[in-house]
Amino acid sequence: MSSAASLASHYGLRAAKAWRIQPDKVLTFLNLVMENNPRKPLEDILVRPDVQLALTQPFSDAASQTVDLMDSAWRAGSKIGSEEASKMLKDLGLEGVQKGKASVSTLNSLKADVWKNSASAKDRLIEAMQGDREGLSDRLGKVTRDLQRRATIGIDVAVKESYAQSAMATYAQNGAAGKTWHSHIDEKTCSHCQGLDGITVAVGETFPEYTGTRVLGTYGPLLGPPRHPSCRCWLTPSLMV
Ligand SMILES: [Zn+2]
Repeated sequence: MSSAASLASHYGLRAAKAWRIQPDKVLTFLNLVMENNPRKPLEDILVRPDVQLALTQPFSDAASQTVDLMDSAWRAGSKIGSEEASKMLKDLGLEGVQKGKASVSTLNSLKADVWKNSASAKDRLIEAMQGDREGLSDRLGKVTRDLQRRATIGIDVAVKESYAQSAMATYAQNGAAGKTWHSHIDEKTCSHCQGLDGITVAVGETFPEYTGTRVLGTYGPLLGPPRHPSCRCWLTPSLMV
């Protein structure tokens, strides 16, 4: 596994853990509220703002933990991206000592996504709590598993984006002419990434959307990986384009 992939899984597991504990907490609290209000229909209890706040608080906490983890994951990805780029540049006979600095704009948009999901998560959770009692646990589990998945995808993208951005900044600062896209080729490799394997472009340029007649999908031109969540592609510097 590459350094970026292992970093992504390290932080991804921590994010997943932040979300994993939540359904039980919610169920326990909900059961308590219902026991204390035996004659009230669940719908009437759920509209109370204090109940809604208590029920959704664990999810807000998980969302803010995810944002913190995303920050750390971004910095860690950025650091190893520039370190590995420096090593490769040394092999190429370029100095490779300057540190790359990854852009924070992508990180901010990723974080905004987490908050956006967290707001809609609350509505989805309140919705999941309505309906029959027997299916409650299943419905909550389904929503939380989806939120857990989104959190780990966000972390994965944060690590790989910062890693590639730092590597590219380091290439540019040290005079590498180009960058080459590499795909991890096996039965799981998607056609988008497979089509880019081995393609070299100038450091500041985007990779082509099309190679030959092959349509590489709707992701648009990219400066580097990841092309999609869970992308296993990486870049290397090149002396020539
Ligand atoms: Zn890929």
